[in-house]
Amino acid sequence: MAAQMIIGGDRVSSGGGATEDVKNPATGEVVDSIPKGTASDANQAVEAAARALPAWADTPFAKRAEILYKLEHLIHEREKDLATLLTKEQGKPLKESVLEMRRFAHTIEHYAGLGKNVRGGHVPLLDKGRYGMILKRPIGVCASIVPWNFPVSLMGNKIGPALLAGNTVVVKPATTAPLTIIEVIKLFLEAGLPPGVLNVVTGPGGTVGEALIKHPAVRKIGFTGATDTGRKVMAMAAEQIKRVTLELGGSDPMIVCDDALLDAAVSAAAVGRFFNCGQACLAVKRLYLFEQIYEPFVAKLVERVKKLKLGNGMNADTRLGPLHTDAQRKEVDEQVKDALKRGARALTGGKRPDGGDFGKGNFYEPTLLVDVPEDARVATEEVFGPALPIFKVKSLDEAIEKANASIYGLGSSVWTRDLARANQAAEKLEAGYTWINSAQIIFDELPFGGVKQSGLGKEHGSEALDYYMETKSVVVTPNPENA
Ligand code: NAD
Repeated sequence: MAAQMIIGGDRVSSGGGATEDVKNPATGEVVDSIPKGTASDANQAVEAAARALPAWADTPFAKRAEILYKLEHLIHEREKDLATLLTKEQGKPLKESVLEMRRFAHTIEHYAGLGKNVRGGHVPLLDKGRYGMILKRPIGVCASIVPWNFPVSLMGNKIGPALLAGNTVVVKPATTAPLTIIEVIKLFLEAGLPPGVLNVVTGPGGTVGEALIKHPAVRKIGFTGATDTGRKVMAMAAEQIKRVTLELGGSDPMIVCDDALLDAAVSAAAVGRFFNCGQACLAVKRLYLFEQIYEPFVAKLVERVKKLKLGNGMNADTRLGPLHTDAQRKEVDEQVKDALKRGARALTGGKRPDGGDFGKGNFYEPTLLVDVPEDARVATEEVFGPALPIFKVKSLDEAIEKANASIYGLGSSVWTRDLARANQAAEKLEAGYTWINSAQIIFDELPFGGVKQSGLGKEHGSEALDYYMETKSVVVTPNPENA
């Protein structure tokens, strides 16, 4: 049975009648089909969200939070089925899909909890006989445009704060990973969310996404995706001075000093690079090793990476699934080949795996590259797949300078037991996140968002709520006859 969009609480097909298939990246089999939405479908969803806005904006925070808590429980109850669907459409190992569903549930619970703490303010003014009030109001209809790598949890980063703050939302998933999102949105309705408060329209970014961004009733766009797409989104939003939050690409450096706890750092590098087959915005994408520990570190990492079991995400022993699309696999392969052509050496991988069922899916071997020139694509571009360039450095100053020589500034990590070094890295690394002696573990409690071309604005933390509310000042003159 083909999946449907949800507009105003109704399950609908595209007005244009067309559908497109969602394929399993491990097998090439069709998982389901979705409506190929049109601009007119997007407009109808925005209109449904606009109709639902006044009542939802007037609903007390506690009531909105209650629905979010109910949803959290439903997600836990249906976790296994949702995670299985996510693995089939996205490709990631089942364990990682379960983690993604739990992360989403936690994000929703986090925002439900913040509902008790939203405060405006009362401000005494210089002018006697008057006082000021600071009100927090919803922005209006929001568009949430999400990619395919963590479709559910990245949607949660947007709709959690948006809904709690009293906005209504239209979600636009990536065309290749919309199915679990649609199931989750059905659960929101089951949890008691009124029709029209949360809608989902499937279809190409260039039509559905752009129609959402351009619709005058949409006042805020929460976008996660590639930096080049983010640039376009920002330009389109500028036409009507719409609010935007942009979570874009990254090329996170990991710096390992000579005093680091090596085994923990090796493990973090392997998980940080190969989790979700390397298709994560926050991931270890460039490794800078002090020369004193370079040889033992690389030997341990090679040993660990050789043990990563590649396969269909539904197999219990799989640690590395396929890339999400064939285009993504080709892109990573071209970046690796460019490095090899310029003199780099692959200590592991560097190619597609041979034989068995591997030919049916978008598989690529986990790849460690050394002797990489600094102008190679794997060093200058974002690598959104299982390949890691490794560099030798003489000092922390050199590592930080190289780490910062990127257009990106999303995450970063430093491994040292020296407080002064840790402090230097925390202050000097140009990134939205710096981990000291850990890497890539993200917390709902902390604001997350990139600097430089990695993005604009914050998700997570209580800060995210500010990006889904307008702050309004009110001056009250209680006794106008005496003013
Ligand atoms: P993408 O930019 O191609 O697509 C993201 C979403 O935008 C999809 O839903 C797509 O349909 C839509 N879209 C595409 N063109 C559009 C347009 N012209 N107008 C409106 N919407 C449009 O990105 P992707 O390939 O799906 O995801 C990979 C990228 O996302 C990587 O660069 C990755 O680093 C980035 N990412 C960033 C974060 C973060 O939080 N910073 C998280 C995950 C992924």
